This record gives sequence, C-alpha cells and structure tokens, in this order.
Amino acid sequence: MTLPKRSYKKVTGLALACSLLLFSCAPKEVPQVNLIPKPAHIEVIGGYFKVDSNLVFGNEQSGMIRYVVDESFGNGNPEGYELNVTDKGIELRAASETGLFYGEQTLRQLYTPKGIPCVSIQDNPRFPYRGLHLDVSRHFFPKEEVMKLLNVMSYYKLNTLHMHLTDAGGWRIQMDKYPKLTTDVAFRTESDWQKWWDGKDRKYLPEGTPGAYGGYFTKEDIREIVEYATARHINIIPEIEFPGHSDEVFVAYPELGCTGKPYTTGDFCIGNEKSFTFMEDVLSEVIELFPSEYIHIGGDEAGKGAWKTCPKCQALMRRNGMKDVDELQSYMIHRAEEFLISKGRKLIGWDEILEGGLAPEATVMSWRGEEGGIKSARMGHDVIMTPGGYMYFDFYQADPKTQPYAIGGYTPIKRAYSYNPVPVDSLTAEESKHILGVQANTWTEYIKDEKHLEYMMFPRALAVAEIGWTPQEDRSWEDFKPRMNANIPVLQRMGINTFTLSDEIETTMEVDTLRKEIKVMLDAEKYPAEIRYTTDGSIPTASSPVYDSPIVVKDSADIKAAIFRDGQLQGTPTEKKVDYHRGINKPIHYNSKLYSGYMAGGMNALLDGYRGGLTYLDGRWQGYLNDLDCVVDMGEVTDIHKVSSRFMQLIGPGVFQPGEVELLTSEDGENYTSRGIIPTTVSNTDKDLSFQEYTFNGDWKARYVCIKAKEVNKGFIFTDEIVIW
Ligand SMILES: [Zn+2]
Repeated sequence: MTLPKRSYKKVTGLALACSLLLFSCAPKEVPQVNLIPKPAHIEVIGGYFKVDSNLVFGNEQSGMIRYVVDESFGNGNPEGYELNVTDKGIELRAASETGLFYGEQTLRQLYTPKGIPCVSIQDNPRFPYRGLHLDVSRHFFPKEEVMKLLNVMSYYKLNTLHMHLTDAGGWRIQMDKYPKLTTDVAFRTESDWQKWWDGKDRKYLPEGTPGAYGGYFTKEDIREIVEYATARHINIIPEIEFPGHSDEVFVAYPELGCTGKPYTTGDFCIGNEKSFTFMEDVLSEVIELFPSEYIHIGGDEAGKGAWKTCPKCQALMRRNGMKDVDELQSYMIHRAEEFLISKGRKLIGWDEILEGGLAPEATVMSWRGEEGGIKSARMGHDVIMTPGGYMYFDFYQADPKTQPYAIGGYTPIKRAYSYNPVPVDSLTAEESKHILGVQANTWTEYIKDEKHLEYMMFPRALAVAEIGWTPQEDRSWEDFKPRMNANIPVLQRMGINTFTLSDEIETTMEVDTLRKEIKVMLDAEKYPAEIRYTTDGSIPTASSPVYDSPIVVKDSADIKAAIFRDGQLQGTPTEKKVDYHRGINKPIHYNSKLYSGYMAGGMNALLDGYRGGLTYLDGRWQGYLNDLDCVVDMGEVTDIHKVSSRFMQLIGPGVFQPGEVELLTSEDGENYTSRGIIPTTVSNTDKDLSFQEYTFNGDWKARYVCIKAKEVNKGFIFTDEIVIW
C-alpha cells in the first residue's frame, strides 16, 4: 500500500461519488480488528469488502472509496470522521481533510489480505493534543529518522512532535544571525553522554573536526521535516531553551552569560539586554521555519546560581523590585511571551515557568508529576500532561537487568497505558477543559542511535496514541493488550526496531486485613501467555499450575512465575515474596525524619503487606534523606523469630543502600537490645538497579521492634515492607 494521494480536493465541500467496484460477500465472519487507537464508536459487522493488494487510497482509478467532505460533520471537530465499510463499498465522511486522513489511517490498519472488515465507525479524539517529544540535543538524530517517526506517528493518529532542539548536548538548528551555534557548539568530543558530561574533557568542537560527535539541522532540513509532517497532519513544536539548559550557547557567545566566560554557566544573564536581543533574533528565525502556533521556550531547571551575584542581574532585580531570582526567570519568560504574541504565536514551557509568576497566556507542560498542570489549570491556563512517572520513555520498560542502560525509573507499557491525563479528583469539569492532551518525552542522554531510540519509544508510543484519542471509559488494559501485541509485527514491517515486550510476569497484590490474607494477581504484557507458577520458591515447570485466578496467601509464599510456550519456560521466572506477617497494620513510630516526597502512601507503608517493585516511584517504597530509625509496636510482648527489610539501590537518581541495618528489640520501649548489624554487600559505585534484603533470624521476646538503617552516601535510602514473624 502507498501513502494517500487524494483527488477530493477538486470537489471541496461536495460529495464525491466514485463508481464502486462491487464484490459479493462470503459467509459473514466477524474478524478481530486491532485498531490503535480504538475508535470512539465501532461496530464490526462481519464479512469483508474485498480489495486487491494494490489499493491506493484516494486514487480515482481504484474508485473504491467514496469521500465526503461535510463541514457540518461532527460539530465541526476537524479530526473526527465516519467510516462505513460494507461488502459493497467504502464511504469516508469528515468535516476536514484531517478527518479524512485519519479515516484513511483506520482503513490502512483494517486492511488484511482477505479484504477490509465490514465496520461502522464514528470517531473523534478525546484530546486535541496527542504528542511525542524527541530530544535531539543529547544525541542527534538525522532528518530521515525524524521522518520515519512522523510516518509511524500519523499511522496511530498522533498529531504533535515536540523537538527539543537545544541543550547542553549541542545546538541543533542552523541560525543565520548566530552561525557559531552550529559551527562551534553542535559537535563535541565524545558521543557517550555520561563519559562526556562527567569527563574532564567536556568540550565542544568546531564543525568538521575529525572524530567529533554531533550534528544539526540546516534550514533546508527543517523545511523538509515540516513539510513531511504537515502532509501527515502533524504539527511540530520547536523548543529553544531559555533561560537554563543553555551551556552550549555561552561557549559560542560567552557575553550572554553572567560571567562572560565560556564553560561557566548554563543560564542566560537576565540583566543583560543582549540576552533578549539573542532570544528575539533566534525566535524570529524559528518562527519563520515552523508554522506551529505553539513555540516552546523550555524554562526548566535553571541553575539560577550566578544570578545571585551577577551585578547586571542584581541591578535588574533592584530596578524592578524583584524579591528573588525566581522572578528573574519569570521576567525572561514574560518577555518571551510578549514577543511570541506580537508574532501571532503562543508560548508553551515546562512547569518551572510557574515559579516567580506565570506569563499571562502561557500553556504549561507538566513534567514534575501532575501538580504543575493542576495548578495551571486551576489558574485558567492550558496544560499538556507529561508526568515523569508515566510519560518518560527514557525510563526502563522492563526489568533493568534485561535492558540497555537507562536513566532510571520503570515504566512498562501497562503503567504508561494506565495514565489518565485528567486528574479527576483534583480538577472540576470546567478546569479539566484546560487539559489539552498528553505527551510522552524521550530524553536521549542514554540513547545513542536510531535503533535504541525506536526501542525505547515503541510500543509505548501506542499507549500514548490511545490515551490521547480513546474515551477514558472505553479504555482497558485487557482490551488494549491483544491489539498492542498484534501491532508489534506491524511496527516491524514499518522498519521500527520495537521492543518486542517482556517475558516478565507482573505481580499485583491485594491485602485483605479482614480475612487476613493477600491475593496475588499475575499478568504478562505478551498475549496470549500461558503463565505457570509455584508458591514454594522452586522454578516452575511445564507441569506447574497454570495461573487462571488470584493466588490467596494466608501466611508466607515465595511465588515464582513464568510464561511457557510449547512446554518451554521463557526468560527468567519472576519472584515475589508475599507475607501476611504479624507486623501488618501495627503502629509504627519514626525517630527519624520522613521525606515528604516519598511517603509511599503514609505512615503504615512499611507494614501494609505491599512490597515495592522495580521502581521507587511505584508508591510502595518509602524514601529518606537521612538515617531511618523506626519502631514497630506489636501491642504486647511477643515471641519473634524473624525480621527482615529490603532496600534498593539505583545510584543514577541518588538512591543508595544503607551502610548497615541494625535490629533492636525491647519489652518496655525504653531498654533496647541489639540483635545484630548487617552491612550492605552492594558497592556504592554499582550503577545497576539492585536490592538487598536484610534478614535477622533469632528467638526473642519483644513488644517493640526497632530498625535502624544508616545513610552513608549523601543520597536517598529507600525501603519497603518490614516483615515480622
Ligand atoms: Zn547576570
């Protein structure tokens, strides 16, 4: 099949009737259709409209599709369409070319060698904004790769590509007024981000230096990309970073930083009017290239340090009566917005643009969770939701042990799919209207090449496509899973090096304190999947029970589960220890300070029966910036035989094993006896995700059970359940 070449433009606004080729229909078979995103309304009628494999959409010669452009259709929703396929022909109706285009994507997805299944579809998207973001600064990806992604995006009705064009990794877009941005700072000494960023030789290199790593888009490249995207009804939002994340700019033009010296800062000098000349010049050239109404100005993670001592910045603060340096950032964003509005464009930025006062008409991209988005929507600002815990595709999508090195996190496709961009508990219906949509971000610090990029983006991007399009009440993981699996070979046929899904088993728990038991549910992202399991810690075999309903645990179980195919175990069995132990729901007292960001649901998180998974962001792990010192009150003097607690290490985001863990017990709550100290066996330089369980066995009489964990690495320590037997 080829890309759409339509003829209906010649008859704008009018029905175009083509002669329909008629085929007789075989006895009606109701086929499984694997559309992503799932349409708002679909009825699979049974039977097929038979076509030959040379079907070219919109080609007058084929004469098989009747296109109708009806501006009154679907309340004018420009992206909606109606598609009717019968055994006699195909009719596609929409209010606009975009709607017709999406109807054609649906047809492309429906196509099978048997023909196109007879369906009746009335469809329109939940959100007007359905986006992917691509960081081309940390690693550069050429225009061919961008176009390949655009092609796949359009197939799944994603309509926005946000390109992160500038950052410390290198400036990636040609600027006529500032040629040094590409001749001097688009290349660097080392491709590997971590080696370069942490290395002694973190330098940019002039274009053409042998062995230099980098690249940039010429203006001609950008025009080609934009044209290619426009033909696929995709808008490209360019991002130019202000005022932070701009280290490369000050190597090319040191006078724009507070010190005036290269390699000293990542922030623009706000007190220097030249910074604003630069900003307006650059944005003018960007506006000329990109038709996008939105222009992204970054706004995230400014260091703000140099502003506190810079005479120019300080003078501006005094002149304008600013209280703190946040207001300097806000000052720059306000001026960016005024400038963009004067050019008929709109400003969008990361949620830090809230700090120091939001520009009056700014749209906010909420990445540090949803809080920035909620706050902005309440203030009447439009919002794109892109929270890190769900929508960061640089996070691991399976057990890190089985995956290429990533920045951290753990977002398998099931978790990504579970995201609802409208925080219904926090916003009124009126405020929710400001949520324009959803976006997934692919930061590329650890993504070196095109293959790796595609591997991280797919199939998770399919989850974003469906979140953005399908009504929330029509979405479920069980329904998405088979369709998503069926689209893996489709992605591969499009040349995408997709992740082919994990053999891991996901375990979820339901603690029932009335029945004093824990239900354990097993799931796989592969479909179909025959899951077999054991509860005694042994490796499951082809004769172990097949999982078909929740496993009920009343005391302790060491569950091991795996997928079997043709009698063979796939991958490594997943292990989950489950204990309905004696500490569950007992009161706990903390002698040390809890960190408010990682409470894991509250004070009894360590005694709720739920075990933490592969990420500290799963709401089960409790985090501390200092030592942990806590006491569990068993209510009365009790015979205790075993106490254990598990800690995590992931040094990328600063999570370390404690130096040691100590167990103490007491009968009266005043006099404590140490029952042992267990040192960590994990090196504090081991960068892989790892866990250590600290288990104390003995025979003690105690009412109070105290766990002390020493923080020795100036980072976080994270623990989950304290198990007491
Ligand atoms: Zn300054």
